[in-house]
Amino acid sequence: MEENTVRDVETGSETGGEDALVGNVNKLMVSPPGYSGSPRKGHLVFDACFESGNLGRVDYISEFEFDLFIRPDTCNPRFRVWFNFTVENIRETQRVIFNVVNFSKTKSLYRDGMSPVVKSTSRPKWQRLPAKNVYYYRCPDHRRNYVMSFAFCFDREDDVYQFAYCYPYTYSRLQHYLASLERRNLPYLQREQLGLSVQQRRLDLLTITNTDHRQSPEREKKLVFLTARVHPGESPASFICQGVIDFLVSQHPVAQILRDHVIFKIVPMLNPDGVYLGNYRCSLMGFDLNRHWQDPSPWAHPTLHAVKQLIVQMNQDPRVSLEFYIDVHAHSTMLNGFMYGNVFEDEERVQRQAVFPRLLCQNAPDFSFSNTSFNRDVVKAGTGRRFLGGLLDDTSYCYTLEVSFYSYMTAGSTAPVPYTEETYMKLGRNVARTFLDYYKLNNLIKGNSSPTHIQSPEMKSHTGDGNRKGNGVGSDAADREREKSHGVRH
Ligand SMILES: [Zn+2]
Repeated sequence: MEENTVRDVETGSETGGEDALVGNVNKLMVSPPGYSGSPRKGHLVFDACFESGNLGRVDYISEFEFDLFIRPDTCNPRFRVWFNFTVENIRETQRVIFNVVNFSKTKSLYRDGMSPVVKSTSRPKWQRLPAKNVYYYRCPDHRRNYVMSFAFCFDREDDVYQFAYCYPYTYSRLQHYLASLERRNLPYLQREQLGLSVQQRRLDLLTITNTDHRQSPEREKKLVFLTARVHPGESPASFICQGVIDFLVSQHPVAQILRDHVIFKIVPMLNPDGVYLGNYRCSLMGFDLNRHWQDPSPWAHPTLHAVKQLIVQMNQDPRVSLEFYIDVHAHSTMLNGFMYGNVFEDEERVQRQAVFPRLLCQNAPDFSFSNTSFNRDVVKAGTGRRFLGGLLDDTSYCYTLEVSFYSYMTAGSTAPVPYTEETYMKLGRNVARTFLDYYKLNNLIKGNSSPTHIQSPEMKSHTGDGNRKGNGVGSDAADREREKSHGVRH
């Protein structure tokens, strides 16, 4: 693994506060206090010193119980959500309780049945732990913080077990995926390095379009711009993004038509350092990049600066019309996929903005139009969606696409269905094909039949007042209740 700028600190028995955490644990054996003999099976060895790893400290409580501390984002102690670590040297049938004791958020999908994911050497596919083994509660110890405890029974002595907040999707995984795409030599796919991160990682840009289309001079080109992983802990965004790319480069007839008419530009990982380091929300230097769109610095926020420059430049290019900007995120308190859009004075523009989410709702059973909302909260002013919504002209639409870290409810379902890596990717494929419906509806692409299922927009826009409001058709009481109780931040 590459050298990490954050030094590894081994802690285990000291009582230092959370502020003492500056690095991930590195092969930390947690033996009973006072034990000085040779290590035994069952003296657990924790490790988070690998890509996207995160675990700051482990406290031995008893043979069966361990307190785990998330390592805060680098240079920003406010964010402690993502964890990802391995455990080995276990004893067969060893039962343990792990308490994750220093989350920085109180509202969490753990209240609604979410559970950590686990895999092991001999079972390499990630699975969610059974919800019945997971408890989320306010603890009288730990400054009355919310604690997530889970019980686990180890079963194979030679296995290394890995636990994470959600399915990891690392920088290296993306690099391998992009390299495999490149090896296919697809004439309609171009990969370029748009810039470098502070730690000199690649900022990749994909362009997907039929080459004839790119070169033909006769008319203005429609352009769709997609970004993901500005928030590094939001790994589901990468599965969605890969789903979009997989679909757009495929031989699916819809993808072929889209490539003939539209230019897709995709930045799959806006914050590669944060992803690499195992941060939840920030870059290496502790910046929430999604609050710096207004004035990104080329040295402090180089990846954001490069993407913004490209967008501004395309916006001035008379040969292209930037119609969609979609930034993909994951949400830690809501279910389903849904979108945030902007608020405009012009009611007609507001209604036009609702068309894409409505179409997506028809194509993706896990996408909720009733959770989709439009706001102009002051705190969101530095986000990509808000900034570009102000920059681009009134024929452009800027959205944040959110997906739950946990699950979705469909029209017929009585219980939430947990997302898998595959269902996240499927949402991405559905996002991609929805552009055909959109452009058919807008007569860019001629089809045999236009979609007839679009109802006339009846929604009203809302200005943000700190509380989200359900504003879609079909929003039921439960939806509104859920929205009221959940803060919004992306
Ligand atoms: Zn986010």
